[in-house]
Amino acid sequence: MDLGMAVKSTRISNRCVVFSFDDLADAAPTNVLVILGSRHVFVCDTFLGPDSMALVAEEVRKHHSNNPWIAFNSHADWDHHWGNCYFKDATIVSQEATRDMIKASGKAELATFKAHARGEVVVTPPNEVFLGRLRFPNEGIEFVHTPGHTADSSSCIDLIDKVLYAGDNVEVPIPFLTTPDLDSYIETLEDYLGLDVAHVVPGHGTIVATKELVAQNLAYIKSLKKGGVVAVDSPRWKATHDQNERVLTSRRH
Ligand SMILES: [Zn+2]
Repeated sequence: MDLGMAVKSTRISNRCVVFSFDDLADAAPTNVLVILGSRHVFVCDTFLGPDSMALVAEEVRKHHSNNPWIAFNSHADWDHHWGNCYFKDATIVSQEATRDMIKASGKAELATFKAHARGEVVVTPPNEVFLGRLRFPNEGIEFVHTPGHTADSSSCIDLIDKVLYAGDNVEVPIPFLTTPDLDSYIETLEDYLGLDVAHVVPGHGTIVATKELVAQNLAYIKSLKKGGVVAVDSPRWKATHDQNERVLTSRRH
């Protein structure tokens, strides 16, 4: 369904809807995953502001569910939590470090990148936190700390529809490093491959992928670790790879 304002919604399984936003011009589309639980509506990441989330909420209320919301932030990068203020009276969960980073640097980041905001963004850190894992057994939902793209990165698993929301840990064509901790990244991607999931929703780019993309991302990270990366002839690949090399080089010096 085309909702205008550079967002479209795609139902990828019985209770999972991906809202894909196109308005960060210099980046791939950004995905927000909505899971229509029996008692709650879960929204994975809140994109660039309350106006973006109002679109999502309107669509969900009109076509799907009036259940209360639980918002989740996959990590503390600004393009994943600026819409939290729309859910300020609801439950907003994240890994503890994510909350701490949003508290510490959210306002400064907002000042720097404000031109991208959609609506009046008020930095709103999560009001509930977890360390390793947070389970909602009645809803078949789990949030798990899965360090990779960032040390605080977390994922959401829909155990019923077998959908993994991987945040920015999975990317097309290759992952984007912000930390040189390749071992944690490898462990996380190997854990993803061990999950019983049919769909993988990345934070950016393609709306829905499979474990094949996870396996390709893992192969790239492993080749980075060994120093044997085979270059791919694509500007996007090269830009990301050069950035990753810079992150690794900064560690070595
Ligand atoms: Zn991102």
